[in-house]
Amino acid sequence: MSFLAFEGIGKRFPGVVALDDVSFTVAEGSCHALIGENGAGKSTLGKILSGIYTADTGRLRLQGRPIAPESPLAARRLGIAMVHQELAFCPNLSIAENLCLGELPQRAGWVDRSALRARARQLLASIGADLDPDRLIGTLSTGLEQLVQIAAAVGTGAKVIVMDEPSSSLSAGETRELFRLVRTLKERRITIIYVSHRLEELFALCDTITVLRDGRHVATEPISSTRPDRVVSQMIGRDLRPETPTHLSRALGPVALTVNRLSSPGRFEDVSLTVRAGEIVGLAGLVGAGRSETLQAIVGLDPEAQGNVHVKDRPLRLGALEEALSAGLGLLPEDRKRQGLVLGMNCRENTSLAMLPLLSRLGWIRREKEQTLTRQYVARLRVKTPSLETTVAGLSGGNQQKIALAKWLARACDILLIDEPTRGVDVGAKAEIYQLLDELACEGKAILVVSSELPELLTLSRRILVMRQGQLVGEVAREHASEANLMHLMAGVAAH
Ligand code: ADP
Ligand code: MG
Repeated sequence: MSFLAFEGIGKRFPGVVALDDVSFTVAEGSCHALIGENGAGKSTLGKILSGIYTADTGRLRLQGRPIAPESPLAARRLGIAMVHQELAFCPNLSIAENLCLGELPQRAGWVDRSALRARARQLLASIGADLDPDRLIGTLSTGLEQLVQIAAAVGTGAKVIVMDEPSSSLSAGETRELFRLVRTLKERRITIIYVSHRLEELFALCDTITVLRDGRHVATEPISSTRPDRVVSQMIGRDLRPETPTHLSRALGPVALTVNRLSSPGRFEDVSLTVRAGEIVGLAGLVGAGRSETLQAIVGLDPEAQGNVHVKDRPLRLGALEEALSAGLGLLPEDRKRQGLVLGMNCRENTSLAMLPLLSRLGWIRREKEQTLTRQYVARLRVKTPSLETTVAGLSGGNQQKIALAKWLARACDILLIDEPTRGVDVGAKAEIYQLLDELACEGKAILVVSSELPELLTLSRRILVMRQGQLVGEVAREHASEANLMHLMAGVAAH
């Protein structure tokens, strides 16, 4: 008899099948990974187990007994708790008050403060957390707040704890703490369902891995008998493309973008570079090196920039965004929430936003053309959206990024400046975005990519430029580039 079993679980939301006939079992005291792309149904499954949602079909069994928790409290009584990424406590109450909310110790009708504190201290100690119970929840970092959530779960006797992407907003130090805690919980035979899309983490921590894709169960396997690349293929439903992109074997076209001695006071200085048609050039550097600022100045977003920018042979007026756009430049900014997308607009509107000048040349937006183009790019990028009329704010990070890309593709620009193409997207969407950039380069687009992830630049680029403190300090050809030598250039220390 298995400890915990999901049997044919199904759940729909309006317009989406979130889970479809999902069955697998979880062993007692194991750390069971749940992985899948954004939107695969991981959180929904956790929420069904912890009583936040009710399944439409199927059932759960705990130690052989069917269970149907109808509320988080009912789940708690069964020994099941979920640790959320988002704030789950009252920020303006203390740790002690939050931990004891359900059962405030009372004396003669008053809350017994010292009993409250003692109980909280005991709960925190039970997971080895050294926190002042009087601190307000609102003053804690996400990591510490999660710790308090875990203390609450363990303290109320949870046997099963679902952790939904627990490390996604933790610092490296906090993540180590979390791992230590997960291991301690395992020693106590507490079963953990660990949701994450960070593969290294799952391979370091978990015993078994379940992969979901588009709401369906793909595989449940012991960690020891699978491998990261296998898991990735299971997640995205096909093999990842080979490491070497196709564009590298194509001949380069003429120079598409020339930047000559571009400077902006206090931001960057004397930047000169070229990008040829069909080329992907990477731009590496530490935070503050001036990479994003350089991209912005190239497309005309920096009124103080000086120097020369040419698109093919044509000089651009600096600071003239419209002119840069009509010359065929496009910028996909770093912070897509603030700059890249209009979150309240739907996918169709967002995709066609960048090309409005082209579409409305006749004085009105040609709906039909807009629809066609959007459908084309949404399909090409495999955006998961219930319909083109869904507002972008409701989509996952990876899908938002794809829409932002689609927006520039719909404009058919020749030169793409892309800042952090895969920030916050999962491995499947990442692979798709890499593949798309490869295809675009093969079609002859000139692409300049800023990324803080060196493996990303090493995968995509034909050559990599390095900026440090506002200046270009080096260029490394793909065949000579490594994380080590790029890092040396970025940090300004000599390579050994
Ligand atoms: P994951 O956690 O794997 O990223 P989710 O379980 O959050 O995926 O979502 C699965 C699918 O269900 C997605 O398409 C998502 O948009 C949809 N979904 C999740 N929760 C809701 C909800 N409350 N209302 C409508 N749709 C939802
Ligand atoms: Mg989720």
